[in-house]
Amino acid sequence: MPTEPTSYDLVISGGRVLDPANNVDAKLDIAISKGKIAAVEANIDSSGSKRTVDATGLIVTPGLIDLHVHAAGGIRKPSNDEFMVAPDTAGVSAGVTTILDAGSIGALNSGGLVNYLVPNANTRLMALLNIGKMGVANLPEVKSADDINHDASVEVIQSNPEIIKGVKARMVTPGIQALGNDMPKAAKAITDEAGGFVMVHVGDIAAQDPLAVDLTPSLLTDILGEGDVVTHTLSGAVGALLANGSLVSQAQEARNNGVYFDVGVGGGNFTFEAAQTVIDSGFLPDTISSDITAMGIYAGPVFSLVECMGKVMTLGISFEDAIRMTTSKPAEILGIGDDLGSLSVGTTADISILDLVEGDFSFREASGATKAGSQAIKPVMAVKDGVPQALDHGPHPWGWLPVQNG
Ligand SMILES: [Zn+2]
Repeated sequence: MPTEPTSYDLVISGGRVLDPANNVDAKLDIAISKGKIAAVEANIDSSGSKRTVDATGLIVTPGLIDLHVHAAGGIRKPSNDEFMVAPDTAGVSAGVTTILDAGSIGALNSGGLVNYLVPNANTRLMALLNIGKMGVANLPEVKSADDINHDASVEVIQSNPEIIKGVKARMVTPGIQALGNDMPKAAKAITDEAGGFVMVHVGDIAAQDPLAVDLTPSLLTDILGEGDVVTHTLSGAVGALLANGSLVSQAQEARNNGVYFDVGVGGGNFTFEAAQTVIDSGFLPDTISSDITAMGIYAGPVFSLVECMGKVMTLGISFEDAIRMTTSKPAEILGIGDDLGSLSVGTTADISILDLVEGDFSFREASGATKAGSQAIKPVMAVKDGVPQALDHGPHPWGWLPVQNG
């Protein structure tokens, strides 16, 4: 009796499978059953499969993870008319399967995200609590120590460890004048008690106060530790990782202590000049993230995580590294690497299908300065828990690709 072909829910066939966690880069098929990756092999028989996706000419990667977004849209105002986006706008609709909201909410307004945004999103949504107890609903979020509620923050993290991964603190005016490094210390005190990690925004984009420069060395080496994250690694703002035009020595010391370094492109937290200086110092960021907001999508210069990846690739980082920096590495930081961030058989089937397009592209920073790149990434499909998701049109009038020269 001939054997029946295996009945998979989905087979993605013919693509270049790029899975940095497993050192796989080959033309393979991926079969999915019950939301899990069932097989990664050449020539999988898809004749019994409920659904097939032809990925010929495309790249199939673990589901992209954006470690820094502002996607608590609709929590503050009844409309989307604010700077945060809806989770799926930053997530599956942009080819990204997991997002970390970095400090949009604080301990006292976290219930909306936990109880309503997470269950209603098709995207895997996690969050860091802002050290300011009301998050960015009340900017500036830290004006004095009264804006920090240690006990409430500990309680929220301890009661929702799958969703709330730690605390975000921004080293910006006026919080740094009011509290100095007592602000990130307060963040550490919360995660020391509750678990999770601290993400610190470096660079005083609010006021460029030189005080920020004095705080950074001790912040990097005395306060942050293993598993914590510095975001805005490629920022040119005062108090970020460059001082007098060169990388502060404490950055490498912090890395040796287990601190991670994230990009977080954002509105004004990335310049090509600063980025090239940091990277030419031999200091590569661990992760590429977007810091996406509603303004940053349509007006730029963020547009999308994939455009941020292309932007960082203009600095000499390979496509393969860019994929590692948006899959296995952020999964490791989030403590979810045993199930996400790879294409290992048996793990959750979060997958991104991408098109790597050759061309003459123009990437832009907030100042308006541009840099040319020969490659750009276009999302084709996000598969979340084994289910193909619908893609948005893209941030540009023509779709997803960056501006093309000529
Ligand atoms: Zn941010």
